[in-house]
Order: sequence, then C-alpha cells, then structure tokens
Amino acid sequence: MKDIQVVGFDADDTLWVTEPHFQAAGREFGGLMAPWASAEKAAEELYATEMANLGTYGYGAKSVMLSMLETALRLGGDKVPAATLRKVLESGRRLLDYPMELLPGVEGVLKELRGRYRLVLITKGDLLDQERKLRGSGLKAYFHHVQILSDKRESDYRDLLATLGVEPRRFLMVGNSLKSDILPVLALGGCGVHIPYEVTWRHEHVEGASPDPARFRQLKDISGLPGLLAR
Ligand SMILES: [Mg+2]
Repeated sequence: MKDIQVVGFDADDTLWVTEPHFQAAGREFGGLMAPWASAEKAAEELYATEMANLGTYGYGAKSVMLSMLETALRLGGDKVPAATLRKVLESGRRLLDYPMELLPGVEGVLKELRGRYRLVLITKGDLLDQERKLRGSGLKAYFHHVQILSDKRESDYRDLLATLGVEPRRFLMVGNSLKSDILPVLALGGCGVHIPYEVTWRHEHVEGASPDPARFRQLKDISGLPGLLAR
C-alpha cells in the first residue's frame, strides 16, 4: 500500500467504543417492555422500527430514542405508563453523554501516521453527537479534515474524495464495518483495511463479501496499520 496519500478513519468502534452502549440500551429497552413482549420480540420490533425510520431519522442516538418510544407505544399501546416512557427517554439520553473510551493503540497510531499522510475522520450519524464524541476523544488535532455524513454510500465517498482532491487508488479507508467503511470504497477503486470490533450492529453485517486482496486487508487491531502502510 505504497501509493496511499490519504487515510480515512471510521470513528465508532474503530477509534472509540460505541456499540456496547447501544446494545446496553437495547437490553434495557427489552427489560422495560417485559409486560408486553419477550426480550427477543422487543429487540426484533425495535430493529424493524429503526430500519423503517432510517431514511427519515438517519443514524445515531436520537433516532434510536425516537424508535424506542415508537416501538414501546406499538407493543404496549395506550397502556404504556408515562413512567416507562420516561425510562426509555432516560436510557436514550444516556447514549448522548457517556464518557469516551478510546480503543487500544489508537492515539499512538494516529501520532505515527500524522506526518506521513493526510488523516481524515469519516463518520456517519448525528452531527451534534459525533462532534461531542470527537471533542471528548481528544483526537481532533490529528485530523486534517473531519467529515460527518448522514450515510456512507459509494456516492458519499466519491463526493468526499473529490472534495479532498485525492484519487481513489491513493485513498485508504480504515473501519470496523465492511458494509459501510470498506465495500463502498473498494467499489470506487480505493483501498480498505477492516478491523472487526467485538460487537457489530446487525445493520452493518454483510454476507459473502470477498474483496480484492490487492486493495484489502483485515487487521486484528489498529497497531498493525503503520506496518501495513509501509509495505
Ligand atoms: Mg464503525
């Protein structure tokens, strides 16, 4: 990967811990729905609501919060107590103010790569919340550019690379989601390094992907990235 000029980093579950917080909120929601549905049923219904709302609400904690309220009202009808809805709101609100926890090795790798490449943070979700997380992470100074997108489709990456003035083959994207961090970039002719995280949101799962090995690598953790770029 000698010709790379710009390295893009996903943020959630690539640089810092995110998904476990959302899974905890999902479990809490399942508990609150116990009078009306099993934990499995509540999880299924919540996921279906989130998917149906994605085009309108987008990604992120506030969207999840609205989808939890909608699902609670669908499962429990008009009998859902206000106290339960309040707890759903509180659980969602905690998704907007948990302390940031960087993944191991992240800061050292950014420090090492900063002088050699243009580093770009590319994340999707709620603008205000992603800005809060970036501030809390202390990582902002490492990035030449920060892009918070409503989605990470091929066209979103194409537009961003044009703005950055970089050819796709000189761009490498690093992230935990094959579906939104890697495959759209490979489709454009760029490179990808997939670093799986211990838990992945179901929406980000992808089946049967077999990316071109010349432009794609998988790493166990981020510490292998500088070595891979040097090769
Ligand atoms: Mg991610």
